Amino acid sequence: MAFNLSQINIFAQCRKYKIPLWQCPQFLFTIMGLFIMVASVVFYAIGERYIFDPRMVALVVILVAMMLLVIAFIITHSFENLAEANRMKTEFVNIVSHQLRAPLTNLRWATQFLLSKEFQDSDQAEKTDYFDIIRENGNRMEGLIDDLLTITRLKDGKLDSKKASFVLEDLVKEVINEHKHFLEANNMKVEFSSPEDLPNVFASYPLTKIVLENLIGNAIHYSQGSKKIEIILKCQKDRVVFTIKDKGMGIPKEDQKYIFEKFFRARNAVYAEVNGTGLGLFIVKLILDGTNGKIWFVSQEGKGSIFNFSLPARS
Ligand code: ADP
Repeated sequence: MAFNLSQINIFAQCRKYKIPLWQCPQFLFTIMGLFIMVASVVFYAIGERYIFDPRMVALVVILVAMMLLVIAFIITHSFENLAEANRMKTEFVNIVSHQLRAPLTNLRWATQFLLSKEFQDSDQAEKTDYFDIIRENGNRMEGLIDDLLTITRLKDGKLDSKKASFVLEDLVKEVINEHKHFLEANNMKVEFSSPEDLPNVFASYPLTKIVLENLIGNAIHYSQGSKKIEIILKCQKDRVVFTIKDKGMGIPKEDQKYIFEKFFRARNAVYAEVNGTGLGLFIVKLILDGTNGKIWFVSQEGKGSIFNFSLPARS
């Protein structure tokens, strides 16, 4: 590896890894080197004048060695962090390329058909089918990229996770309203109830909104012809509990244990061709685990699902 002068600029080197100085190997090695030099000079100066007892020398050497051991431990740990970040990036690239391949192949295949003579000769219904394929696969890629960006931002701490006291009821209404057009178009209704004296929650507003968007979105999309969804807020001890009930397709028993895993989709959802990425509940769990929230659910295939989460209350 060729040496270049910019490598001497430790701060620039550390900035390159986007990690704090105290986790940066170059910086820690330099501190360790300086510490050894200063410790040797000071020890020599003090030792020459004041120390006549060899046991004292041994004690100081042991103390200095212990300090060096601590710094070496932090350095090893920082290498582990770098290796972990590298592993996560590789996993991310693998997943993205794997998950994007299917919709991209569909898009290429559909556009090839649009350019063919067969397309010119086909009837309107067949043409519409191909435009639908293009739209659906475009949506699928967009959803996937949005979800992956949310996960990366969450893991990098780049989403606003500052906690504040707010009225959960208002946020729930806002999210229901975002689905208004879909609900109306499908003749569906959301029944929402909340007690008047419900305390505020103490949580991150934008992160809680992501949780609600996913749970309410799922209840609507997996409803499969059932027209009513019920949302209930209540206070239990020092927590506010959100419950959403749908009478949709439910989750098969054997799939339930995997439901919060990255990219997992239950077989009935895939079979019914409901669009999804399998990342929504993974994101929900990531958020709630990191913000003192809890999530649990019960579901029965063909009968429906009940998802609940709770957040700390703050009046
Ligand atoms: P997505 O909905 O994008 O596939 P999620 O992580 O939100 O991803 O959900 C994972 C899977 O859990 C879904 O694919 C679906 O099989 C199942 N699921 C989630 N919510 C419900 C629900 N309300 N009813 C039935 N199945 C659900």
